[in-house]
Amino acid sequence: MLRATTQAVSPARRAQGATRLALASSEVRHFSSTRPSQKQRLVILGSGWGGYEVMQRVDKRKYDVTVVSPNSYFAFTPLLTGASVGTIDFNSALEPVRRYSQVRYLQAWADKVDFDRKRITCMPATGSSAKKQLIDSKIQDIQDQSLKPAASYPGWKPFELTYDKLVVAVGAYSATFGTPGVADHAYFLKDVRDAAKIRNRIYECFELASQPTVTDQERAGLLHFAIVGGGPTGVEFAGELHDTLTTDLEQAYPELAPHCRITLYDVAPNILGSFDKSLAEYATKKFDRAGISIKGSRHVKRVGEGYLEIEEEGKVPFGLCVWNTGLAPNPLIESISELEKDEKTHSLKISDQFRTTSTEGQEMKDVFCIGDASALKEKLPATAQVASQEAQWLAKILNAEVRGRADPGAFTFHNQGTMAYIGDWSAIVDRSEVSEGPKGELTGRAAWLLWRSAYLYKSLSWRNRISLLYHWFATWLGGRRLSRY
Ligand code: FAD
Repeated sequence: MLRATTQAVSPARRAQGATRLALASSEVRHFSSTRPSQKQRLVILGSGWGGYEVMQRVDKRKYDVTVVSPNSYFAFTPLLTGASVGTIDFNSALEPVRRYSQVRYLQAWADKVDFDRKRITCMPATGSSAKKQLIDSKIQDIQDQSLKPAASYPGWKPFELTYDKLVVAVGAYSATFGTPGVADHAYFLKDVRDAAKIRNRIYECFELASQPTVTDQERAGLLHFAIVGGGPTGVEFAGELHDTLTTDLEQAYPELAPHCRITLYDVAPNILGSFDKSLAEYATKKFDRAGISIKGSRHVKRVGEGYLEIEEEGKVPFGLCVWNTGLAPNPLIESISELEKDEKTHSLKISDQFRTTSTEGQEMKDVFCIGDASALKEKLPATAQVASQEAQWLAKILNAEVRGRADPGAFTFHNQGTMAYIGDWSAIVDRSEVSEGPKGELTGRAAWLLWRSAYLYKSLSWRNRISLLYHWFATWLGGRRLSRY
């Protein structure tokens, strides 16, 4: 049964956390986040939709900007479903943070914030490569305490940063609702690394199913692609996967095509609850016709190695299970007890100028939070659209403060509508509640064209626009590349 939330933390991150606890506080070095200057020190935590956009727009002549993020890139998340099946390459969905040479970037996790001393404790996020080098250099005794030597490895020590102003934009994690086995046996789709793992697993399933020793029953299990969560991401992934299965994979593995199945499970009776009912019905009918099975009112009790245990159906085998059932708080946000949080989402409560509030009810003048990690009074959805607009407004506020300009005032969200790709050159666009422009709904090929144009336009660099156009065209002309690596 899908109930309470727990975030899914990767084993590597868990292991890093364990190592961190073992480090005495005396080992934490302190560094000023500035180069010597009179500028204010602005530290931005996260390089996603919120953090990256603030970094881009804030006045670097007036602020010394430091970005702390485990990802040295910004990931254009709406393109990840396409990247996970090979419609586009991964780089088309990424923008490197280091493009901005005026910004100091530290590849690290922010672990703790001391709001009184205005200091952040950070842990480098480069441990895995340090570990790899240790393994490569054949250092023995690495097994159980595999991460221990890495703590003494150059560049893998915790450190502290001081800030004058802090922007928390660390996003959220995937919710598992406490379902056993999800973190171990299902795949999440939050980042480009997840998309790469999914792509590899899809092709692995086909190669495994091609082995002469595999029985028909095993083959059917390996080629069952289960998606848990019928929100826009689950639906888009089902659509992209269906495109891939019915074109490139069917061509490459014609004998396996009859065994392939896609099933979308949700605890709610219907998919796409955040869309207008008629659009959700349109997508449902389209999936029906395409042979994508939608199973609503299903309660996943456990995910085992290669099977789902569903209350209503018992054990259902799968080759790949993609889990997408919503959001849980980021561990950094969970660790903050000094600031007010939203009771339902446990995100940081923010004012209409993104300032956080202490638990004593005092507004924190220099601590801002945006995106999925934050909760405005007027509840807004956890989307890139919201995070990006908040970031743009926050940059205005920060710039006005140092330029001595008038305060831009309270933030208001401009709803530009929502859309989702549903496969087979078809999409749904919901503009029934947009703030500006024509209202209404769009489906099919016209909606698909709008969907692609919007993401092409929103892409952050000319380089990625060209790359996207190239990959869309190359996929249409010559299919997806099916190699595993
Ligand atoms: P993120 O973009 O998630 O960024 C968080 C950043 O913080 C990351 O760089 C992360 O590495 C970093 N971080 C995490 N922990 C720490 C830490 N401890 N210290 C420092 N840094 C940290 N929204 C839409 O509007 N339209 C769509 O079509 C759409 N499609 C989506 C498709 C997918 C597959 C996914 C996963 C999401 C999609 N979304 C979409 C939702 C959208 O991506 C999120 O709402 C948005 O990313 C939130 O922005 P953010 O800046 O709050 O967090």
